[in-house]
Amino acid sequence: MKINIIGGGPASLYFAILMKKQNPSHAIIIMERDGPNDTFGWGIVFSEKTLLFLKDQDEPTYAAITAASQAWDDVVVSHKGEPIKIGGNPISGIARLTFLNILHQRCRELGVDLRFHTNITDVPALAADCDLLVGADGANSLVRRTYEGFCLPSVDVRQNIFMWLGTQHPFDGLTLTFRESEAGLFISHSYKFSLTHSTFIVECPPETWLKAGFERVTDEQTCAYLAEVFKDDLGGHPLLSNNFVRWLNFPLIKNKRWHHQNVVPLGDALHTAHFSIGSGTKLALEDSIALAQCFVEYPVVADALPAFQKVRKPIVDEFQDAALQSLSWLENVTAYLPLDPIPFTYRLLTRSKRVGYNRLKRGDPDFIARYDEWRKRQPPSFGPIPTEFLDLFQKRTFAHLSTLMPDGTPHVTPVWVDYDGQYILVNSAKGRLKDKHMEARPEVAIEIQDPDNPNRYVLVRGPVVEITEEGADAHLDSLSPRYLNRPKYPPGMRFPGEVRRLYKILPKHVTTWDPFG
Ligand SMILES: Cc1cc2nc3c(=O)[nH]c(=O)nc-3n(C[C@H](O)[C@H](O)[C@H](O)COP(=O)(O)OP(=O)(O)OC[C@H]3O[C@@H](n4cnc5c(N)ncnc54)[C@H](O)[C@@H]3O)c2cc1C
Repeated sequence: MKINIIGGGPASLYFAILMKKQNPSHAIIIMERDGPNDTFGWGIVFSEKTLLFLKDQDEPTYAAITAASQAWDDVVVSHKGEPIKIGGNPISGIARLTFLNILHQRCRELGVDLRFHTNITDVPALAADCDLLVGADGANSLVRRTYEGFCLPSVDVRQNIFMWLGTQHPFDGLTLTFRESEAGLFISHSYKFSLTHSTFIVECPPETWLKAGFERVTDEQTCAYLAEVFKDDLGGHPLLSNNFVRWLNFPLIKNKRWHHQNVVPLGDALHTAHFSIGSGTKLALEDSIALAQCFVEYPVVADALPAFQKVRKPIVDEFQDAALQSLSWLENVTAYLPLDPIPFTYRLLTRSKRVGYNRLKRGDPDFIARYDEWRKRQPPSFGPIPTEFLDLFQKRTFAHLSTLMPDGTPHVTPVWVDYDGQYILVNSAKGRLKDKHMEARPEVAIEIQDPDNPNRYVLVRGPVVEITEEGADAHLDSLSPRYLNRPKYPPGMRFPGEVRRLYKILPKHVTTWDPFG
């Protein structure tokens, strides 16, 4: 097979390696517009799990990568000047350039034709000249733009502004630092990737960026300004720009369709994932592995590309959903800043809902003991629903309310659900079946299931202690932004003469379930 690849980043190089290993007779050309040592960026991070995955694919690159990596076990969250360490997070960092050079070397060993300083402008011509064209040309992909009518991409440009910088401060673990300055909030994401250097990504809301006056200053002034904001975290080290100081708005890139004829985009060209949840490099490599695997099972391009979309897209969609939750949390972090470091850290670590109480407890029981201690010290106003499940009442969560029919058989309906710190609140209309049932037998069971993770839920049983029309209309309006994205409940959605009722359920028995959290 003749394979042309545009772009010489991690997605492209790793795919070429795997395809050459599969069949050395494949003729593979990688066309990269820059030189072999021109890379931007600093270091990249991999979880232990990702590294083991790479080991299974290609032992020599795995060995070279691990030999050149720095490993650590902690995530550190620094808020209000207090660093909190959370163990149980084995991660490795490596210089991006070292990493790419390892992949270059392996490509050469396997006979991949690497062509640097080759800028591609005519994608269809290149596609016509091969059996498979891979568009691994990064977030600004020309391949994606060329076939946008078929791939149907979307680019959601996010509000926070960020920049990749470096420093010689040796961070001890993957560190997130929150600093409130005169101009506003700054967040840094940092990690050590070599004996001498760490990556230092700075993120801030647009208001902070404007107030700090970054549009008017030089690159050196920008680095000096940020080094001053984070001076207590950087141990006096300056921030380094690597001749590349550019503020960016994070583009959340998706494609509805992942292939067209013999063309397939790969890595950042296909999707991006916010740096707060994992590196784009990890996703790019996993794409390469998945695509190469499809060629093992389906040697014909026309079969392999749809198979790639089928197996890989649901995984990436799920990852991007979690990444969206993570970046949205950071965009709205001011709501959490008043929290003390321990509860703030807990909220931060559980923001994407992929990590929960149990997982944190397994990784670092001491941290959870400190969190539990903090919870115990809180006034009882938190009520009977555990704090770590309160997010269910902030989402578009449909609960399932079970009541009893007059003949004693069960009846269940989906309902909007609310919690006032003491009672579970349900809103319905006078005369409906559930209304009649609760009037007649005010005992219910209600299941409140996380819409983002159906394995996670709260079960409540208890009496309906009050049924009232007072405040029911206002309560319905208050739920509308959450459930309908509208400021008020639209009158047109009501039945003529409908009388709303509010039901207050006392959570007498509460069971929570989050087995994989
Ligand atoms: C400024 C910046 C700094 C970053 N720093 C880091 C970092 O320190 N750590 C980290 O983990 N991640 C970093 N990232 C993210 C990371 O680079 C990507 O998520 C990851 O590299 C994706 O791999 P890829 O192979 O899909 O794309 P890329 O690595 O982006 O590779 C795409 C390649 O295609 C080439 N190319 C593009 N168009 C053409 C064309 N028309 N013809 C020929 N070649 C072309 C580009 O030069 C590039 O080398 C950074 C991103 C940016 C924008």
